[in-house]
Amino acid sequence: MKDVLIIGGGFAGVWTAAGAVRAAREAGAGDDVRVTLVSAGDDLVIRPRLYEDAPDGMRVPLDRVLGPIGVRRVTATVTGIDTGAHTVRALRPTGEELALSYDKLVLATGSQLVRPGFPGAQDVFDVDTLPAAAALDSHLRRLPERKPSPGRYTAVVVGAGFTGLELATALGERLRGIADREGAAEDVRVVLVDLAEVVGPELGAVPRPAILDAIGELKIEQRLGRTVTSATSADVTLSDGEVIPAATVVWTAGMAASPLTAQIPAERDRLGRLAVDEYLQVVGVPDVYAAGDTALATAEAGHATTQSCQHALPMGKFAGHNVAAELFGRALLPFTPDPYVTCLDLGPAGALYTEGWDRRIALTGQEAKSLKQQINAVWIYPPVDDAEQLLDQAGRFSNG
Ligand SMILES: Cc1cc2nc3c(=O)[nH]c(=O)nc-3n(C[C@H](O)[C@H](O)[C@H](O)COP(=O)(O)OP(=O)(O)OC[C@H]3O[C@@H](n4cnc5c(N)ncnc54)[C@H](O)[C@@H]3O)c2cc1C
Repeated sequence: MKDVLIIGGGFAGVWTAAGAVRAAREAGAGDDVRVTLVSAGDDLVIRPRLYEDAPDGMRVPLDRVLGPIGVRRVTATVTGIDTGAHTVRALRPTGEELALSYDKLVLATGSQLVRPGFPGAQDVFDVDTLPAAAALDSHLRRLPERKPSPGRYTAVVVGAGFTGLELATALGERLRGIADREGAAEDVRVVLVDLAEVVGPELGAVPRPAILDAIGELKIEQRLGRTVTSATSADVTLSDGEVIPAATVVWTAGMAASPLTAQIPAERDRLGRLAVDEYLQVVGVPDVYAAGDTALATAEAGHATTQSCQHALPMGKFAGHNVAAELFGRALLPFTPDPYVTCLDLGPAGALYTEGWDRRIALTGQEAKSLKQQINAVWIYPPVDDAEQLLDQAGRFSNG
């Protein structure tokens, strides 16, 4: 019996598990492999939706996805990886320590927001994890209970990248819905802060005019070339000395790969991602693969993968296929994702769908919005309670 051990129950981990089961069965070796997925939580968290209203429901029970295909699931936080001994140490929620061994390991523990350290930063919200997004949601809903004050319905979003833009463009409407209950919808203010001099610095110049149009339409204020230096429950101070009364500050700037990547003796990039080869094997570390936000792979000639669902999901399928293929002497598949696209939600101003690495605009407004809703509410969800569908999708390496 061969052991495939997957760490992480996000998009990459789930599709690695399905891909491994599928490839092992295809090789006639379904009974010769045990696929185990160890994850800190019991759910697949739909992270791309955490900027939306009511984030608590943005999850899918892992057992309903993986149970039907016989994946063994362990709820535990991995604390150590010994690639020499082929073992992993983990801690169950009860405090019980576990030791797990593997023939093939796939590290799919994702990424995490780099939280700021300025005075008052502990009270700043984020939308990186389900508990954090739920805390923000509950804070917003309770704002009417606060004494009227100048910044009660002001939200400052720090970081004008992809997540910051999606959140800032959604927040006005969310806040107005809440403030309206006491006739204070007019008081709503959303301020977007970024150290860069432009919005969406990593999105490039091509989509920027359309993004700026949306920001203008939604009356979102911009404070560019600045950052936050301190915050209290009532206001936030920017690096140029401006004090903005605000009951809500949300940090979205800066992501890093899971710290577990540091336990693999291999090259990592500035985001902490492990360098993997075309088969998603960690370079120089036998029997270890990485997929999703932990991995730095080549997406298309001259372009590295991005920390996105768009890449995490197919990386999982390829990594799962390849671990089983390597174990049972089948051909490994080089990672070849679909051509790069982006779909940015712009709240009531619609959305922006772009194609290519220079992000040429393909759809805007309501057309792009319908696509975004389809992506968020349908495409990124794995089938539940349905082994056949899951394995069928695991074998589709392209959406085309
Ligand atoms: C607000 C927001 C909006 C986004 N929008 C988009 C978008 O529009 N399009 C897009 O493509 N991407 C988007 N992303 C990025 C996308 O969500 C991530 O790239 C994707 O979730 C990565 O998948 P993953 O499986 O690598 O990691 P994750 O989804 O982060 O999953 C990691 C898993 O590992 C587990 N884990 C972590 N550490 C341990 C440990 N020590 N032990 C055990 N388990 C552990 C976690 O519990 C989790 O199950 C967005 C992200 C956020 C936060």
